[in-house]
Order: sequence, then C-alpha cells, then structure tokens
Amino acid sequence: MSELQNVIGGVAVAPASGIWVERGITPDGTGELAAVPESDERDVRAAVQTAREAQTAWAARSAFERADFLRAIARQLREDAGSLASIMCAELGKPIGEAHGELENAARVLEYYAGLAHEMGGAHLPSRQADVHMFTRREPRGTIAIITPWNFPVNLAVVKLAPALLAGNTAVWKPASQAAQSSYAFALSIIKSGLPAGVVNMVLGGGAEVGTPLTDSDIDGVSFTGSCTVGQQIESRCSARGVRTITELGGKNVAVVCADADLDAAVEAIVNGAFRFAGQKCTATSRVVVLESVQAEFIALLMKRMHGLTVGYPADPTTFMGPLISQDAVAEALSSIEEAVAVGAELLAGGRRPDALDSTQGAFLEPTVLAGVTAGMRIATEELFAPVLVIITARDTEEAIALADRTDFGLTAAIFTNDLGTAFAFVDQADVGAVQVNLPTAGLEYQAPVGGRRGSGSGGVEQGIAALDFYTRTKSVSMRYRTIS
Ligand code: NAP
Repeated sequence: MSELQNVIGGVAVAPASGIWVERGITPDGTGELAAVPESDERDVRAAVQTAREAQTAWAARSAFERADFLRAIARQLREDAGSLASIMCAELGKPIGEAHGELENAARVLEYYAGLAHEMGGAHLPSRQADVHMFTRREPRGTIAIITPWNFPVNLAVVKLAPALLAGNTAVWKPASQAAQSSYAFALSIIKSGLPAGVVNMVLGGGAEVGTPLTDSDIDGVSFTGSCTVGQQIESRCSARGVRTITELGGKNVAVVCADADLDAAVEAIVNGAFRFAGQKCTATSRVVVLESVQAEFIALLMKRMHGLTVGYPADPTTFMGPLISQDAVAEALSSIEEAVAVGAELLAGGRRPDALDSTQGAFLEPTVLAGVTAGMRIATEELFAPVLVIITARDTEEAIALADRTDFGLTAAIFTNDLGTAFAFVDQADVGAVQVNLPTAGLEYQAPVGGRRGSGSGGVEQGIAALDFYTRTKSVSMRYRTIS
C-alpha cells in the first residue's frame, strides 16, 4: 500500500511520528486507499515556521512576478490533469468527467487571480493639508492556515491559495483526510511548477491532531471551508485570540418553482443541482418549493428525468452519479429518509441501495426524491450531504419565497420564473450569499464573490476581486512632499 507524505519547504517529508494510518477501500469498493501520515503538532510547527521564513522574500516580489507563478501552477495542473483526475475519481468516487471539470476550473481560477495583479494597487486620497500626498496600499496578512473539505480538494484549495499567494502571503494547507491522496498529488504539482520552496506547505492528518494545533499556531489568518460544527469551533477559538477567520460552511439550498416557470428547464437544472456528485456539494439543491398549481406536472417531469440517471462506477464516463464518499454517509442518508417517511413524507424515488451494483463494497445510493415534506421536518432543515431532494408545496409565490428562508443556512438559492418582478422580489428577500434565477443552485462562477450568510459562513467572501480583502491589510500613507520653511 502506498504511503502519502507531508510537503514542507518544497519537499515531501515523512510525519514526525513515523506512523501512517490505513484507510481501507475506495468509495466504489474497487481499490485500496493510500495510508495517511499520522502528523501532529511537530509537523505543524515545522510547516508554520517554514512558511513564515519564506514569507518576507515572497512578499518582496512584485504582484506581477507572483502572478507568473500562479500561471505556472495552472500550466502544471493541466499537464497533470489525467493522473490527478484518476486519483480524485478513485479516492472520492467523483465521476471522471466532473473530476476533469474541477481541475480545469481550478486552472482558470489561478489564471483569473494572476490577471488581478493589475488590481493590487490602492487609492489616491485628497488631503486637507497643502503639499501632502495620501494613498493606501494593500499589504499581505502574513502566513495563512488553509483548511479544506474533501469534496473539491483541488478547486477549494485553489480558491484560497490563489488570492492568498497573489497578495504576498505564504500558506500552510491542511486538507481533509478523506481527500489526502488527491491533495498530496496536487501539492506535488505545485512543487513541480517551480513555486519557491516554503510558499505552500501541506500537512496531512486528522482534524484534532493537525487542524487544532494549526489554528492555535503562530498564523495570521485562517481560511476554512467545511462543516458548520467545525467552522464555528474554529471561529470562536481564533476570535478569542484575535486571529482573523473566514468560514465557508454548509447549506440547505432551495429551488423555488413558480407557476410561470419553464418546467422542463427547471427540472433539468434541479436534477443537476441535486444529484451531480451525488449531492455532495455545499451548493447542492436539497429543497424544492413548488407552487401547488404546477406541482403535479413538475413531479411528473421530474420522475421521467429520474429514470435517465445512471448510478454506476465513477471511472465509467457514462455514469451520471457515482458512489457517496463512504458507507457511513449512505447509512446516515438512509436513516434520515426513513425518519422523514415515518413523519409523513412520501418516497417518490430512490431511498435504497441500487440492486445492479455491489453495495456491500461500494457506497452506492439511488438518487432520492421525497414529496409531502413540510418546512419544519428535519429532512428539510438539516444539511444531508447526499443525493436527497425534498419537495415542499406552497400555495402562492409569496408563501414560496417565505418558505425558501426557513432554515438556519444562507448559502445559495434559485428561483424558476419568467416574471422579472417575481425574480427581483426573490433577489430582495432571499437571505443568502448567491441568488440564481433560472439556473441551478450549484456551479457558481469564480468571478462572483460568495459569502454564506447565517449558519453558512462568516468573515467575508470568497471568489472574485473581493476575496483579496481577507488576504490583505490596508495601510494608509500620508506624505508631505514639500517642507514649509
Ligand atoms: P469537515 O468535517 O468540517 O472537515 C473540513 C476540514 O476541517 C477537514 O480538513 C477536517 O480534517 C478539518 N477539521 C476537522 N476537525 C477540525 C478541528 N477541530 N480543527 C481544525 N480542522 C478540523 O467537513 P467535510 O466533511 O470535509 O466537508 C463537508 C462539509 O463542507 C459540508 O458541510 C459542506 O457543506 C461544506 N462545504 C462548504 C463549502 C462552501 O463553500 N460553503 C464548500 C464545500 C464544502 P479531517 O478531514 O482530517 O477531519
């Protein structure tokens, strides 16, 4: 069995403990996962110190030079895309086409931030005093801890690393254990791209063993994406000692289907939002609020589309939906579905492991639809990282828009309508970071800034130019250029 390494100072290194943890079989049950280093605070300390030492020289380069390094990572990522996609497909059960899509998107994010070198300037300000020139400039925050979840190991790391590095920060990256192999392969691509040693360091290992010492270490900011429970813990630990944190957390994203919607287009967008990557996206569509008057027609079209969704092995390019990340995830989904049915929901599709696949080995689950769900049911309020879609009925558009916000989350929300007034009423009222009109809740473009509201995040936005705000500090300079004699 292969053993993964940490990457510190531009080289792959064994954990200080000299111990590796076995992880068992791949989500589809066809292969063995590589063992993860059992790293601890000694590895974290070494990585943070290395990143700190590299930061001064990295920040001394111009933003344009740093941008060239981001372009080099993008080039390397494309060169390594074949092997990286295969690793992600095996380790995460991500359908091979979606794995390639994630990598291409990550390369474009790197190129996008490289292009923003031109935007790294500050402002010129008028002074009340004669002969005084005032301006602001952006300075890097320093060394940033980057903690990522397992579902988009390359893209979510890049969404943080690209603006952080462009701004002159160095980083210590702690990827999710379930995505350790994909993350390690990407870290090796970064080294191969020629990035100066120590600018990006990666420590693999558990949340408690590596994540906690990292957030408690001598770092200047924490950028976290993951679950609400862990994100909220990190935020309170860091704010107690004055360390800036940005958290991007879970969602329970809604699609509102109005009476005037193009129902075929709505069904297509909702199926893609709910079931691509088996619903394991923070932006996945997990709730539909449909107007009573079109509910029967909507459900008929949805059921017809569900028949065409092939569940299968992720390496097969004809597979629409692969396995879930683990058997535990399948068991949790099945138990939530069972509970929903027990309290009155009606199972319209799925809710079981597929007969045609070996579910004793692979973590397969049929895409599931539940109707007759009410807004207060647990299945309609709690995030379930699984291919489970619930349908809630609304009497009219006003009620539908009100029901859309009936969770503690505020990540993304979609509405399907051909009426501009209704679309804007939704834009006005939806308490979320991103609104999609006649588009899926998932698949937000990288130039759009997104920050989860309420339980879905805090501390700023990611993506777009606005992401640079977290990774920089503003300095004001007032300069008298002529002395008064
Ligand atoms: P998770 O369990 O919260 O883990 C996220 C990361 O935090 C992992 O690297 C994990 O390490 C680490 N971690 C765990 N405990 C920690 C601690 N005490 N201190 C520091 N770090 C710790 O989330 P996940 O299961 O990987 O990902 C799924 C969640 O991410 C879902 O809730 C999803 O909605 C959310 N997500 C949000 C976005 C967004 O942009 N809003 C995007 C994608 C995913 P280990 O893996 O080693 O435990």
